[in-house]
This record gives sequence, C-alpha cells and structure tokens, in this order.
Amino acid sequence: MTVITRDVVIVGAGPSGLTAATELRKSGLTVAVLEARDRVGGRTWTGDIDGAMIEIGGQWLSPHHTAALELVADLGLQTFSRYRDGESVYLAADGTRQQFTGDVFPAPADTAAEIDRLIALLDGLAAEVGAEQPWAHPLAAELDSVSFSEWMKQQSDNEYARETVTFFVSGAMLTKPAHTFSTLQALHMAAAQGSYTALATDSFMLDKRVVGGMQQVSQRLAATLGDDVHLSSPVRRIQWSDNEVTVFADGGLEVHASRVILAVPPNLYSCISFDPPLPRRRHQMYQHMSFGFVVKAHAVYPTPFWREKGLSGTGFSDTDYVSEVYDNTNHGVDNGAIVGFIAHEQADALFEMTPAERKAAIIDCFVRYLGPEAATPDVYYESDWGAEEWTRGAYGVSFDLGGMTRYGRDHRDPVGPMHFSCSDLAGHGFQHVDGAVRMGRRVAAAIIAERSLV
Ligand SMILES: Cc1cc2nc3c(=O)[nH]c(=O)nc-3n(C[C@H](O)[C@H](O)[C@H](O)COP(=O)(O)OP(=O)(O)OC[C@H]3O[C@@H](n4cnc5c(N)ncnc54)[C@H](O)[C@@H]3O)c2cc1C
Repeated sequence: MTVITRDVVIVGAGPSGLTAATELRKSGLTVAVLEARDRVGGRTWTGDIDGAMIEIGGQWLSPHHTAALELVADLGLQTFSRYRDGESVYLAADGTRQQFTGDVFPAPADTAAEIDRLIALLDGLAAEVGAEQPWAHPLAAELDSVSFSEWMKQQSDNEYARETVTFFVSGAMLTKPAHTFSTLQALHMAAAQGSYTALATDSFMLDKRVVGGMQQVSQRLAATLGDDVHLSSPVRRIQWSDNEVTVFADGGLEVHASRVILAVPPNLYSCISFDPPLPRRRHQMYQHMSFGFVVKAHAVYPTPFWREKGLSGTGFSDTDYVSEVYDNTNHGVDNGAIVGFIAHEQADALFEMTPAERKAAIIDCFVRYLGPEAATPDVYYESDWGAEEWTRGAYGVSFDLGGMTRYGRDHRDPVGPMHFSCSDLAGHGFQHVDGAVRMGRRVAAAIIAERSLV
C-alpha cells in the first residue's frame, strides 16, 4: 500500500485534468494525478498502427479554440493545416455522386437559399443563447422541451435543407440522433464553437492539427508533472467531508488531500463509489448526461491519390454509412490518409456486422467517395471509443431532452471538496480539447481562490 498526501488530487490525466494540475502546481500547490489507463491523454490518443501514426481520438483545432491553441504554442508544439484544395464529393440519397466546391452541399437554388436562411436563424439564436449559461435564456425552457428534429420541422418544409442543417450538429457534433436532444442543446453546441455557421464550415472546425499528434499536449504536461502522475491507477472510492478527501485507487494507492478534481467525463462518475454518497440532485443529474457515439475509420494509402484527381479528400453523405470523409495525411509524409466518420444509428448498424463485413462496408464507402484506388489501403483501423472502459462513447457527453434547463445551472458547481473539470462541462469549446483546457484552468483558479480565503 502507498499512502501520499497532497493539496489536490486529480482523477483523470486527460487534457483537462493535466491542465488543472499544471495550473495548481504553478501556484505552489502540491498535486497527484491518478489515471486509470496506462497512458495519458484520455480521448486524445496518437497511436502507431502497423507503422502509421493515427489520431485515434481528438485531433483538430478551430480558430475559435484559442485556449487550446495557446497551450499548444506554450508547449512548443507546431500546427499544420488540413489539406483541402480541390473539389469535395457529395453522395446523394439517390446514389448519385457529385463534386462541388465551397462549404454548402450541392442543392437547387431554392434549397440552397433555405439552408442559408436556416443557418442564419440558428446563428441568431445561438448568439442569444450563448455558450456559458444557455439555461438562463428567457426561451430556454421552451427550446429545451422540443427535440431539434421536431423544431427544425416547425421551421421548414424543405426536407433536404432541414436534414442538411441538422446534420452539422447531430451527426457531426453531438453524434446523437436529432430526436434525442433539445434545440437548446443544439444551440449551445453552436454557441460553444462560435456560431452555427462555424459548425457548417468544415474549413473552420477542422482547420489545424498538431504536428506529431494531439496526445503530445497531455504528454508534455505530464512530463512536467513527473512522478506526480500515477498511471494504471483507476480510482474506485472517494471518502469526503467538508475540507478533506481520501481517494483510493487500484494497486493500494491512497491519496489524502484537501480537494479533489474529478477530471473524467460525467458518465463515469458513477463508476466511483462516494462515501458519503453524492447529493440526490447529482445522482439524478448524471443519469441525464450521456455520450454520443461515432466511429472514426482510418485508411492509409501509399500516396494521397485523390489529390492528383483534383479532389480535396473531403466528402459528405446523409445516407451512406460514412457521413464524412477528410484528408487526414500527417505532416511531412509521402503517404496519404483518409479518415471517415460513422455516427450514431449508422454506427450501431455497423457493429451488427462482423469485423470483416464492417471493414468491407466502410472501404466501399471510401471507394464511392474517392474512386477504386481507395479499395486497398496499406493500413486500416477503426477507433471504437464505445468499447473503451474509461470513456464509453464519442465524442462527448451531452444532456438529454430537458436536462439542460433542469440541471445545467448546477452542473459545474463543486460538491464539498470535490470539483469537476471536463470538456463536457465546458461553455466555450464544449466537447473539444479547447473546452477541456478552459475547464482545467477555471477549476484550478476556483481552488486557488478558495485557498486564498482560508
Ligand atoms: C473519436 C474522437 C474524436 C474527437 N475529435 C476531436 C477533435 O477533432 N477536436 C477536439 O478538440 N476534440 C475532439 N474530441 C474530443 C476531445 O478529445 C475531448 O473533448 C477531450 O479529450 C476531453 O478531455 P478531458 O480531459 O475533459 O476528458 P478525457 O480526455 O476523457 O480524459 C479523462 C481521463 O480520465 C480517465 N479516467 C476515467 N475514469 C477514471 C477513474 N475512475 N480513475 C482514474 N482515471 C479515470 C480516463 O482514462 C481519461 O484519461 C474527440 C473525441 C473523440 C473520442
């Protein structure tokens, strides 16, 4: 058994927990970070798959992600732009394949105008609702009681325009079917990334990557924290009183501290046993916060062959299994990589198949987007975060219908000595690395402020 004493113990060595630990350490407090996995980075994970560097988890930064961009630069990391020259591909429901330029999917002029109108409407509402306290908007209860799919039906009779605009938040962001989350939740996602237009603009949301991989952010933070990061130490039990916590992890590790930060996604709080139990409202609240589900499929080819055909590697479909594809070639390499996304119910359907059938179905989609050369990748890999014990979904956690107005106002507050930090609790940068960094800084500042009052 190992017993240690620190000012603050942090549960989870993802970008949020490590940011918080780093800030606390800078202010002179002692920390211990307990991580369940045998690696740091959480949902950011840069893997080596058959010799190819693959971003298994989070990878892109938008210009709106200023906190994450600042941290990347402070850590001495470089960024590079996603390749996006050339034409994009749209696979339509009737099986036709169209090439197009710009951010708007090919559509007749009246439908394109309707898409613009809906996005402008959502931009206006998202700006009003804001990223930080969407539940405080005068129309919050109303917007939180109607599913996004139903609300969109009330706004437009044009099914194609509706489906296209809905996709930017359901398939591409919350990764849940649009009948399962509220309009308020959709507006919050938009506000948190700058606007609804931002969500609809892949050149904005998927702007930059970190040279060498996003996991390095966590690896560099952890390197500075040194022996205070304890890997393979899943926390199982937290004993707490007003000003004291004892955190018990596997391997007989016991940490005594005056504060604990739970830097794990909210769906995992219930995997920890609390003594005394969490307050009733927290027990209830966390049952209304759940992960979406998306599979990231990676294929690496000898060359980025699509570029020679004038294609950007970007493609979309609202009916095919793979709803989005992008050029995901690493910086400074000769080979070419494509990443595809299969979201929510399409992902469920794929996991009904055998691995071989699933791979064949996904590669077939890549062929439809990019041509016959896509049939034979050198490396193929599926990021399946739903099967990860210490995550259980992708990309992040959001409220169910009505949950945001019922619980949102309390969900970032501490409980006694327990603070909560995670990208899924963020305002700006919600569900992204940027939100993880912002929450880490915010919670560290709150603890530092509490201490200065003592
Ligand atoms: C497939 C995928 C693609 C994504 N794409 C992007 C993207 O392109 N851009 C972007 O900005 N974001 C993206 N994200 C989201 C981004 O990765 C997350 O928002 C970010 O990693 C959240 O950081 P976090 O520290 O809040 O939580 P996490 O990264 O989830 O870290 C939590 C940590 O807590 C640990 N843990 C859990 N339970 C325990 C326990 N009981 N004891 C000890 N440790 C525990 C976990 O192992 C994990 O290391 C993506 C996510 C996924 C899954």
